[in-house]
Amino acid sequence: MRRVDRARFVPPESHDQAYDNIPLSIGYGQTISQPLVVGLMTQALQAQPSDRVLEVGTGSGYHTAILAELAAEVISIERHARLSERARLLLEDLGYRNVRLFVGSGSGGWPVAAPYDRILVTAGSPRIPVRLLASLAKNGRLVVPVGTRQEQQLVLLEKGPHGVSERSLGPVRFVPLIGEGAWNDQGD
Ligand code: SAH
Repeated sequence: MRRVDRARFVPPESHDQAYDNIPLSIGYGQTISQPLVVGLMTQALQAQPSDRVLEVGTGSGYHTAILAELAAEVISIERHARLSERARLLLEDLGYRNVRLFVGSGSGGWPVAAPYDRILVTAGSPRIPVRLLASLAKNGRLVVPVGTRQEQQLVLLEKGPHGVSERSLGPVRFVPLIGEGAWNDQGD
């Protein structure tokens, strides 16, 4: 996390708050998560240098960059084309070559590079996204906030030799995951 400068990912008017432990607005009703939660999710994911990681919710691209520091390749999906484009320019500028960004909904999975060793969902889902779980590789880990539109539990799912185990990592607050198997678009 020390290698990725959060100030580059927040809008100019929030620069003086870039290092505060708070979420910040990035436009289009979306937010860049608070650094503590980014750290917690990244720690739970335990991405390895040879891993292929799927991120659902590129947003600012901040978490994408942190994952790109740790894994072999990051595939990140964002439903807002303008956010994706902005993240693409920034990540290119920062020199990340192991990132592929796509515009669309990742709530139902993203077959392009499946199965994935790690899957990170950075928006709140009403339930465990089964299609994403299905595209998780053996010994894979999936981290996803699950709950209501307002409040979720951060859930870690592990696909072990004897099935899937589930662990709750505490309460979090994310913008809703919009799309198939998740929430309806309410104009955000
Ligand atoms: N990881 C981001 C946090 C972004 S907030 C960061 O570090 O900045 C969550 C993002 O998920 C929002 O940008 C929102 O538009 C996006 N999102 C919501 N539902 C989605 C879906 N089904 N597929 C892809 N992106 C989605």
